[in-house]
Amino acid sequence: APQIVWLRRDLRLADQPAFHAAAQAGPVIPVYVLDDETAGDRAIGGAARWWLHHSLESLSRSLAQRHSRIVLRRGDAVRELAKLVEETGAEAVHALRHYEPWWRKAQGKLAGQVDLRLYDGNYLMPPGAVTTNGGDPYKIYTPFAKAVLDYMPPRECLPEPETLHSPDRWPDSDDLADWNLLPTRPDWSGGIAAFWQVGEAAAHERLEEWSGDVAAYADARNQPSQDGSSRLSPHLHWGEISPAQIWHRLDGRRGEGWATYAKELIWRDYAQNVICQFPGYASESYRDGYAGLWRNPNRGHLIAEELQAWQRGMTGYPIVDAGMRQLWQTGWMHNRVRMIAASFLVKHLLIDWRHGERWFWDCLVDADFANNAVNWQWVAGTGVDSNMFVRIMAPLSQSEKFDAAGYIREYVPELADLPDDQIHDPPDDCRGDYPVKVVGHREARERALSAWRAAKEEG
Ligand code: FAD
Repeated sequence: APQIVWLRRDLRLADQPAFHAAAQAGPVIPVYVLDDETAGDRAIGGAARWWLHHSLESLSRSLAQRHSRIVLRRGDAVRELAKLVEETGAEAVHALRHYEPWWRKAQGKLAGQVDLRLYDGNYLMPPGAVTTNGGDPYKIYTPFAKAVLDYMPPRECLPEPETLHSPDRWPDSDDLADWNLLPTRPDWSGGIAAFWQVGEAAAHERLEEWSGDVAAYADARNQPSQDGSSRLSPHLHWGEISPAQIWHRLDGRRGEGWATYAKELIWRDYAQNVICQFPGYASESYRDGYAGLWRNPNRGHLIAEELQAWQRGMTGYPIVDAGMRQLWQTGWMHNRVRMIAASFLVKHLLIDWRHGERWFWDCLVDADFANNAVNWQWVAGTGVDSNMFVRIMAPLSQSEKFDAAGYIREYVPELADLPDDQIHDPPDDCRGDYPVKVVGHREARERALSAWRAAKEEG
């Protein structure tokens, strides 16, 4: 009998345990359901939809080469899959386990209606598998990472299924173009298209290219002008490549570069481990005492304008603006700059991290429920394991320290002619069309610290 493979953020053929198991059991019907209902207000964001379109296109090309195809359906995933099982007489639905709270519920519901077979494969370790000696899940990153390292290397990777048998009859499929995942008016995707190659093959090409650079990663990763990180995040988010594949490709390299990189991959596992414990993590601060701290953009015209200046890369802080414009143009932002830009919103502008999290959700091609929430709460100081709120990043000195001049010239072209010693903090009479600072650094710092003290006294 036919076997359905339910695809979500696992758009690959190799090292894909659901594909692997289905192919061994019978003819395979790969299915993707565009479900804007189940996730509630967490429907896939704009830039991520662009990625999804191209990734589905790429996967369906690979399947066509194997005389197979992908069936596209739209609507409530559980309902659509139950319908498809009935239409096709499928024996089982095979899927990789997903841990977003809405998927966990949907998996439970679907399991009550069909033979649902779930596999792990998108993380180094299944979230929940690594626990403290007392059997509890870890809350703090460092001991979690240590524990994960004890289990590494990860399991061996599975090969691509050798043959994919087709069912006697293919069920109807939507046409990808009708889903309108790509922007039309205005079409803001040109910069994104120029920056990325999408799909499983592209992910492996990028990994090959990157494998030569990993040795320098420990330092290079912090230098936005050097582009010293792997840029595998959207490929990982969409499951075009598995972390186990990356691990096995790079493992055995000595030195600090690989050791540091491995720890970043573990951050990704850690973030899943956090949202499994705290499913509301993207909408609620983990720590109390912050509610009264933030200035609310819905309640003040000026505050709303400041939020907009941040979103558009017009704060007058070149490193922040370069980052926000890189995000808008390419759907991605350098990690060091994500930290600086996020900290600026939360501390310099005293705007609730959830406004930033939302903006990133819509703009990032790698927008990830767990990684985004965990990192925003880390920066804001509100998280289960986080930086202290009172540690306020100084964007101007960060910019100098990490030598961001080249990066600023690329993304803030109106400053491109300024010399290195001016570009991080241009004098007011050298700014031309570039805006003055929305708020002075020292003033913002003092405001944040006194708001913090006041909130603590109230709390
Ligand atoms: P590399 O440095 O090459 O790291 C390799 C991989 O490790 C990444 O692809 C990613 O999967 C993982 N990783 C690295 N750093 C982190 C981290 N801090 N937390 C979790 N995983 C990590 N990452 C996302 O994938 N999606 C998000 O929505 C997201 N939102 C973020 C929001 C803020 C405010 C901040 C500060 C960081 C956020 N990150 C997010 C984490 C990090 O910035 C990106 O994963 C990284 O910049 C991706 O680039 P890269 O692939 O070159 O990373």
